[in-house]
Amino acid sequence: MRLFRCACHSGLSYWSNVARAPADVGGGTRALPRSGGPVDASVLHDLAAASRILADQGVVDAFGHVSMRHPSDPNRFLMSRSLAPALVTPDDIMEYDLDCDCVDAQGRGSFLERFIHGEIFRKRPDVMAVVHSHSPNVIPFGLIDTPMRAMFHNAAFVARGVPVFDIHEKFGATDMLVGNSEKGVALAEKLGDKDVMLMRAHGSVATGPSLPVAVFRAVYTEVNARLQFQTAMLAGGGNIAALDAEEGRLADEVNLKSSARAWDLWKRRVGF
Ligand SMILES: [Zn+2]
Repeated sequence: MRLFRCACHSGLSYWSNVARAPADVGGGTRALPRSGGPVDASVLHDLAAASRILADQGVVDAFGHVSMRHPSDPNRFLMSRSLAPALVTPDDIMEYDLDCDCVDAQGRGSFLERFIHGEIFRKRPDVMAVVHSHSPNVIPFGLIDTPMRAMFHNAAFVARGVPVFDIHEKFGATDMLVGNSEKGVALAEKLGDKDVMLMRAHGSVATGPSLPVAVFRAVYTEVNARLQFQTAMLAGGGNIAALDAEEGRLADEVNLKSSARAWDLWKRRVGF
């Protein structure tokens, strides 16, 4: 018996004194992870808002998810239970360790692809939030040899390069889902030090040093894909004067500051 703070309800605000059951993991059992500590209600509120913003902006539909690193424990992250993003509330947020074991699921289901998040958080200490989506205009760029390029300043982060994770390279024919740690590790390795990455015949990942920036990048990755498609049609095989790496670096410095304006607007649009 030990005292812990429940990490799975609104405001993470009540205390329980119960024995922790071991988790069934990979055919064996190990103790459930300890919580990284209480989380302010405003954090859960923002994470639920992020989920709804991504749905409102057309980045996610019934599928896709967003997570953020625990504010006081870098080895924990927060993410909704398995649920359509537009329906997420603060009460649905659960806490995970980097092995993607839930601290206190209380019978609620987890996203199958939470390993995308856990392994990126493990590999990239600078990443504070991760978005995974199947946003439709991005997907074609994971299927062809033409790389995604930054069509305008809001998508400046694209100029750093956008790798493509092809799950077939290491795992052969699969259901395409990143449903275990091994696949998550391979995905995080492919991401390297980049901000966004495409997943062949699946979707994409966007990361950021904060939740608003990760959401901003997910939204503008989708917008950029649409613009690049239109530009390629207009160019007809001719030159496309996209941002170069230095322009991308300079413009992204501005975006890191100005993304707060988009965040405030988008939050209001979803009533948060
Ligand atoms: Zn997916």
